[in-house]
Amino acid sequence: MDKISSIGVLTSGGDAPGMNAAIRAVVRTAIFYGLKPIGIRKGYAGLIHGDVFEFKARDVSDIMQRGGTVLQTARCMEFKTKPGLEKAIDSAKYFGVDGLVVIGGDGSFRGARDLSSLGLPTIGIPGTIDNDIPYTEYTIGFDTAINTAKDAIDKIRDTATSHERCNIIEVMGHHSGQIAINVAIATGAEACFVPERPMPEMPSIIDAILEGKKRNKKHFIIVLAEGVGGAAEMAAHIEQTTGMETKVNTLGYMQRGGSPTVRDRCMASEMGAKAVELLKDGIGNRLVGIKDDRVYDIDIFEALEIQQQVRDDLIDLAIMLSI
Ligand code: ADP
Repeated sequence: MDKISSIGVLTSGGDAPGMNAAIRAVVRTAIFYGLKPIGIRKGYAGLIHGDVFEFKARDVSDIMQRGGTVLQTARCMEFKTKPGLEKAIDSAKYFGVDGLVVIGGDGSFRGARDLSSLGLPTIGIPGTIDNDIPYTEYTIGFDTAINTAKDAIDKIRDTATSHERCNIIEVMGHHSGQIAINVAIATGAEACFVPERPMPEMPSIIDAILEGKKRNKKHFIIVLAEGVGGAAEMAAHIEQTTGMETKVNTLGYMQRGGSPTVRDRCMASEMGAKAVELLKDGIGNRLVGIKDDRVYDIDIFEALEIQQQVRDDLIDLAIMLSI
């Protein structure tokens, strides 16, 4: 691989709190090693259309505590086409981007893999609140998102107890129950439904609520990952069958925003620095992640083949502890 003198950085796909800390780490680490950092706005769309600028050290001052991404993000269909990908490569050459850091989810990593295959050394950093990328134990934004959801559910639980209500709380996660499972344990939820596990039969949920009432339970909190769906129907059925007033709360995009936690800022800083160090040493085509609580890197192709392991044990734990 030719020697690298400049490093581009972009954020792609869904935003996540902590992405700014990763951008800051990439920019400052690059400057530390005498490399030129280049910002690319709006993900792969910005790369294709030349929305690029040279980053200075001060440009990333005061961004660490902010949610979202100062580079903004986008989903770009054109990039998934052959001409779009070639345009991206040409644009990288034109603007002198010798190596690229992509902060995003697994969709963005498939793009990073394609760029690497066409000769642009690219390193991926996992940024998504869902924590659903199997090769890494952790993705930037997860900790902030679960803490935001935890705060919301604690508040809902206060009023659920006062009124002896059932609340079905829908949290983010189309294909992954990671947020739902962790939040269910942390808030003492009575039930947790995730896309990776078949829904239990309705009668068993009704029985659990009625049994809970007999044991003097004052509320029934159900945490549901959005990918499961059917919250409104479930609420209507529970209310009809048990007589317990049942409300649905969709936490939605609030989970994607807010000031990142210490964990997200630290993980993002470590992974951002690692990505630049790899490129500086002439290593591309890798993803940075967390394994056994430490930063590591892995071949992109290999990483994208790894399958997610569902933490069934944690769902069972949430239910066991909610008696
Ligand atoms: P995330 O990175 O959060 O999973 P997306 O799946 O929307 O988000 O992907 C972000 C962008 O990455 C897409 O808009 C597209 O430009 C690119 N991308 C997604 N999937 C692929 C793919 N299979 N091949 C090439 N590029 C992809």
